[in-house]
Amino acid sequence: TLKQFAAWGGRQGGDVSGEREEWGAGGGSLDELIDQTIPASIRLQRPMKMDDPICENEILDTLHNIASKNKIWRSYIGMGYYNCSVPPAIMRNLLENAGWVTQYTPYQPEVSQGRLESLLNYQTMVCDITGMDVANASLLDEGTAAAEAMQLCHRHSKRRKFCVDVRCHPQTIAVVQTRANYTGVIIELKLPHEMDFHGKDVSGVLFQYPDTEGKIEDFTELVERAHQSGTLVCCATDLLALCILRPPGEFGVDVALGSSQRFGVPLCYGGPHAAFFSVKENLVRMMPGRMVGVTRDANGKEVYRLALQTREQHIRRDKATSNICTAQALLANMAAMFGVYHGSNGLKHLARRVHNATLILAEGLKRAGHKLHHELFFDTLKITCGCAVKEVLDKAAQRQINLRIYGDGTLGVSLDETVTEKDLDDLLWIFGCESSAELVAEGMGEETRGIMGTAFKRTSKFLMHQVFNSYHSETNIVRYMKRLENKDISLVHSMIPLGSCTMKLNSSSELIPITWKEFANIHPFVPLDQAQGYQKLFRELERDLCEITGYDKISFQPNSGAQGEYTGLAAIKAYLSAKGERHRSVCLIPKSAHGTNPASAQMAGMKIQPVEVDKNGSIDIAHLKAMVDKHKENLAAIMITYPSTNGVFEEAISDVCDLIHKHGGQVYLDGANMNAQVGLCRPGDYGSDVSHLNLHKTFCIPHGGGGPGMGPIGVKKHLAPYLPSHPVIELHLDRDACPLGTVSAAPWGSSAILPISWAYIKMMGGKGLKHASEIAILNANYMAKRLEKHYKVLFRGARGYVAHEFILDTRPFKKTANIEAVDVAKRLQDYGFHAPTMSWPVAGTLMIEPTESEDKAELDRFCDAMISIRQEIAEIEEGRMDSRINPLKMSPHTLTCIVSSSWDRPYSREVAAFPLPFVKPDSKFWPTIARIDDIYGDQHLVCTCPPMEVYESPFSEQKRASS
Ligand SMILES: *Cc1c(COP(=O)(O)O)cnc(C)c1O
Repeated sequence: TLKQFAAWGGRQGGDVSGEREEWGAGGGSLDELIDQTIPASIRLQRPMKMDDPICENEILDTLHNIASKNKIWRSYIGMGYYNCSVPPAIMRNLLENAGWVTQYTPYQPEVSQGRLESLLNYQTMVCDITGMDVANASLLDEGTAAAEAMQLCHRHSKRRKFCVDVRCHPQTIAVVQTRANYTGVIIELKLPHEMDFHGKDVSGVLFQYPDTEGKIEDFTELVERAHQSGTLVCCATDLLALCILRPPGEFGVDVALGSSQRFGVPLCYGGPHAAFFSVKENLVRMMPGRMVGVTRDANGKEVYRLALQTREQHIRRDKATSNICTAQALLANMAAMFGVYHGSNGLKHLARRVHNATLILAEGLKRAGHKLHHELFFDTLKITCGCAVKEVLDKAAQRQINLRIYGDGTLGVSLDETVTEKDLDDLLWIFGCESSAELVAEGMGEETRGIMGTAFKRTSKFLMHQVFNSYHSETNIVRYMKRLENKDISLVHSMIPLGSCTMKLNSSSELIPITWKEFANIHPFVPLDQAQGYQKLFRELERDLCEITGYDKISFQPNSGAQGEYTGLAAIKAYLSAKGERHRSVCLIPKSAHGTNPASAQMAGMKIQPVEVDKNGSIDIAHLKAMVDKHKENLAAIMITYPSTNGVFEEAISDVCDLIHKHGGQVYLDGANMNAQVGLCRPGDYGSDVSHLNLHKTFCIPHGGGGPGMGPIGVKKHLAPYLPSHPVIELHLDRDACPLGTVSAAPWGSSAILPISWAYIKMMGGKGLKHASEIAILNANYMAKRLEKHYKVLFRGARGYVAHEFILDTRPFKKTANIEAVDVAKRLQDYGFHAPTMSWPVAGTLMIEPTESEDKAELDRFCDAMISIRQEIAEIEEGRMDSRINPLKMSPHTLTCIVSSSWDRPYSREVAAFPLPFVKPDSKFWPTIARIDDIYGDQHLVCTCPPMEVYESPFSEQKRASS
């Protein structure tokens, strides 16, 4: 129909047309290419059963119908999620700006200085506010941050026990308990005075300050007792409270963590939000997640890059400090900008405002005859009503207000920066207080100062750095954000051909809904009848994802691919235990696997056994058979990636799955490469039991410069009863469910970005989705074909075709020209391109994934750049260019370098900066720094903004001026 044509013909790059079939990779039609690429035995033989596609100009209306089923009540539920005012300047210029949201993780620092600076601001802000020494650039959510803290403590002393204060948020406790269960740590849930560290068998203790009921108490004694026995101390906390409250770093805490959501990120029905994680100096090398550090570039200029990557899973695999890969960079950037915009005084003002409102409410409640459980609080009250609870809740419902219902006759109220006088009046009315907020406040007098009148008052200064004291007007913050944005390559500049990361179009239509109030302003723990829109969207997305993958059930809880891996493996373990096969714990993982695979398997308590890869890049079947035979008694699972990480559809995939099943194991299929499969073949059909789907790859959620992501898992029927549950919201309807536990703080992970994937699928329809996969495969084969005359294409399928990505071998140039993959990667920046995936899955190579979103002209430009670079290499090989000082080794070339008055290189400035005709002065993207010095940075670790003093000397000012 016309409608169908319009829906899939018009989007995803606008060039999904028959014309491509002519420039196809090696003649033939698109159908033939796909037949030659994907083994016939696994092809999906029918069209996917999906709704008719919805035209782009109708999608938002359709989605709005769904969104409007969400009821936006005022929520005072708290529990780690608070209303906040997102500064419109940040909303529009950062969150709604493709220049900020379509960036990749900043692995190429020369074209990423903007977001690296912003993430360094985030780290500095977290350190300063918590009073700690170093922070990372975000984790997934508060619950998983607490679980990471538990694991850090365990790694630190190898002790088995970990104490958790019962007054942490229930979801935090659940996520920690689940993680502990699979890693073999024993959790003791206690009150501080019941905790005993004398046995020197407790690795760490976690408490929350202020606690989930809002109470502020002195933990100094607990910290001292713990430290005396060599036990580490972790504190879950709240950044806004700490603006006026003595920070944990000032009473000896080793790890401080929490959510930065209320720093300008909406509730989002649970996420995405950035968690923060900060530690004392001595723990920095054990810290999970990514961290931005300061180093210098080839010219000695102070610059930023990701530090200490050697701790990460892509290097250390199952020995990594955590499996965190995608985190929450975009949300960390929003929170950082919130801090930059408000500054110390602004933040203190917000905190005092929230606190004062809470003091007024408390006073009114007491006057109305209610009992408050705690004397000292920041923004949260726990109340035993002087009247019937039902009466209060009925009145709350009348005014469309949600309170926290403890279920034991007590209620909770958490206030936030958006609370107005009218809100306070409504709350007082609900609780039967006769006076207005104004009258209550008048009667309170000077002496009611709450924490400001106690020893808990914060006395230390924070955010005294220049960056937090320069951009407090909209004029300035907008320019600052634009200045940073301009330093970074994103999809608004050129293709980002990152193998395995699928940097495809994130269309505007898909992105618009995320800031709709019906999706953004809803608390994750509201009663389900207020979230019917979300629930409908989840159901539809689940149905479509099941049809796409061949699975029976989806869990949306994991909020990254790696989290999905952990969840899927935990489901396998729970299933095996229920079958009485608890002893099965061996997980086979091919050596070519993504580093998160072994790191996640380790977290799920499995024993990793590597499987060899043959010289064609496929699983070494003989070795696999031997390993299966060797471990058959204890085989739990295999983790495989399909098409393989080497960019090949292996013929034997079904046989591999059969082999594992025959020996009592389960198949975990890493679904990161779904972009080559959607509509063409389905993991659930060819033998897999469970997969995660990276919605931030194949299903169009933008990469955000390193998050957010969503890693839902699909499972076959037999694993469905084991999918995650949640301590606050009921997720399983069937009574014989035996859930694996809880893996994220929010019931459906990062709910607010699911409309993106929903809209993508609905606009594409079954036919469009299939066509996208075909074009992705065609594009890769087209590029491989053009480049094979110049570079060796490392692996191909049985009939000579690659999947949706391919590897170029740059290793030979080391010998012939002293050139390595990194030199090619950096030289590409001079041509205006982000590098492909470097040195993974094969060291010394480049992996290219074009996706279906790029048109032929862009693919050709990228190929032209690669071919031109090959010629530059040839000049070195043939002795016409110096092997140390040449355009590759000296790349990238900054503007400063090109305009410098002393140019003494054996090649021209034109060759350096404008190597091909399409690189033009009026559109060139300039890398802002020269090549990074990683080693220097790791040896001189600095992970916060320079302190104020640095700016006082005019000399150091000058040194930093160009950054
Ligand atoms: C991206 C990726 C992952 C990890 O996903 P995250 O969301 O970054 O945690 C796992 N496996 C493969 C093959 C990937 O490409």
